[in-house]
Amino acid sequence: MKKILFVTSEAHPLIKTGGLADVSGSLPKALSELGEDVRIIMPNYQAINRTEEVRYLSTVYVNNYAVNILETRLPGTGVTVWLVDCPEFFNYPGNPYVDEHGKPWANGAERFALFCRVTVEVAMNRSWLDWKPDIVHCNDWQSGLVPALLSLEYSRPAIVFTIHNMAYQGIFPKATYLSLNLPGQLWNPHGIEFHDMLSFLKGGLVYSDRITTVSPTYAKEIQTAEFGYGLEGLLSYRKDFLSGIINGIDSDHWNPETDANIVQTFNHSTLNKKQLNKAALQEKVSLPVDKSIPVFGLISRLVEQKGIDLILECLPEMLTHPLQFVLLGSGNKGFEQRLHNFAESHPDKISITIGYDETLAHLIEAGADIFLMPSRFEPCGLNQIYSQRYGTIPIVRKTGGLADTVIDTVPETLNNNTATGLVFNEANAGTLMEAIKRSLILYNHSKTWKQLQINGMQKDYSWSKSAKQYMTLYSHL
Ligand code: ADP
Repeated sequence: MKKILFVTSEAHPLIKTGGLADVSGSLPKALSELGEDVRIIMPNYQAINRTEEVRYLSTVYVNNYAVNILETRLPGTGVTVWLVDCPEFFNYPGNPYVDEHGKPWANGAERFALFCRVTVEVAMNRSWLDWKPDIVHCNDWQSGLVPALLSLEYSRPAIVFTIHNMAYQGIFPKATYLSLNLPGQLWNPHGIEFHDMLSFLKGGLVYSDRITTVSPTYAKEIQTAEFGYGLEGLLSYRKDFLSGIINGIDSDHWNPETDANIVQTFNHSTLNKKQLNKAALQEKVSLPVDKSIPVFGLISRLVEQKGIDLILECLPEMLTHPLQFVLLGSGNKGFEQRLHNFAESHPDKISITIGYDETLAHLIEAGADIFLMPSRFEPCGLNQIYSQRYGTIPIVRKTGGLADTVIDTVPETLNNNTATGLVFNEANAGTLMEAIKRSLILYNHSKTWKQLQINGMQKDYSWSKSAKQYMTLYSHL
C-alpha cells in the first residue's frame, strides 16, 4: 500500500469547473478501493459544497499566514480531504479561478503559491498530521510549485505531475515571482522561468519524477509545437518520463441503467427505450417531438478549443438537412450570441441552453442520437465517453483523448464490431460537415446504427482500469 497525497484545485462534488474535478473526485476513490491510502488536499474555497462534517486538524505558518488544515470526506466515499483554510485568500464568492463577476482572481498567483507552500509542509510531514506520503500526485499549474519547492527538500516523497490541459499554464510577470519570495535557485531557464516570466506549470514539468497526461495521444501531441505552447522542447526532452493514461468515468453517476436524471433507464439490450429519453429531451427543450428525426447533442464550455466556431460554420448547411440540434454550454459571449441567433431563427430545429445544468446534460446524453465534439485539441474529454455509454454516437476530431477513445466507422471496424463513432482529421468546417453527413447516412441504416451503439455501450471506461495504470506508475517510483 502506498500513501498518496493528491493535490488538486477542484474535486467533484465539492467544487467543479471542468474535467479536473471529475478526475479528482473519482481517481482517489478508485485508488483507495484498490487498497492505496489516498488523501486529497485542496483549498478551502467559500463555494465548496459542504455536506460532510468538517473538523479542525492543525495550523501551519507560511509566509506570515496562519493556515488551518481542516479535514472532511469526499461525499459518498471514504476518501479523506484536507482543506487548506486561509480565509484571506479563499473565503470569497467565486470559483477557484475567477471571482463572482467572472474575472480571473487578481491574486491568482498568491492564492495558489500559498496553497503549494502549505502542501509542501503537509508532504514533508511538518504540519502535525503524523502522515508522510510516499507519493505526491500534483495536477495542473495550480500545484506546479509543489514539485519545484519539494526539489529543494532532503528526503522528499516521489512526485507525479498530471497535465489535464496545457492551455492553462499559470504564467505571471517576474515581479510576481519576486513578490512571492520564492527560492532564488528556482529562477533560471531550466527551472520555473519561462521567457523572463514565472511559469507554475514548468515547476511541475521540470521537477517531477514522472509526468502524465490524460491520454496517450495527447502525451505525444504536447511534444510538438502545435500543442506544446513553447514547452514542447522540455516535454520531448523528458519524454522517457512522460506517459498518457486515459481518464476513467464515474460509472455509477454516468450509467444509463440506473441514472436518476433521465426519464427512462436502459441498457444495450433495451435500446428501444432510449426513444423515451429522446422524446423527453425534445419536449424539455421545446423542439418538435419526433422519433424519426436525428437529434445532435453538444455539451461544452463554449470556447475555441472545443471547435464551437466550426459548429457555427456548419449550422447553415446542417439546417438544410432533416435534423435537430440541442446545445448546452456557456463561455465566450460572442459564441453564445451567435448560437442564440440561430436558435431564434430556427426554433423548430435548434435549441440552445446557456448555463451549467447537470440534469439536462444527462438527458442530452441519454436522448440525443449523435454527439458533436469537434475539439481543436482535447487532453482526454469525457462527454465522448459518456455518449458511448448512453448509445449516442460521437462525432469527434482525431486529437488527444478523442482519438484514443472513439473508433471510426469503416468497413474493417464495422466487421470486427469495434466501430463506436465517426472520426475526422482536419479542424475545419468542411471535414466536420462531411462527418455529419456520414452520420446521417448511417443513422438511416438502423441495423448498423444499433451495432455502433452496442459496441460503444459495451466498452469498459471504469476508473478501476485507469487507476491500476496509475498504481503501476507509482510502483516504479
Ligand atoms: P473540459 O474539462 O475541457 O471542460 P471535459 O469533456 O474533460 O472538458 O469535461 C467537461 C465536464 O463538464 C463534463 O463532465 C461535462 O459534462 C461537463 N460540462 C461542461 N459544460 C457543461 C454544462 N454547461 N452543463 C453541464 N455539464 C457541463
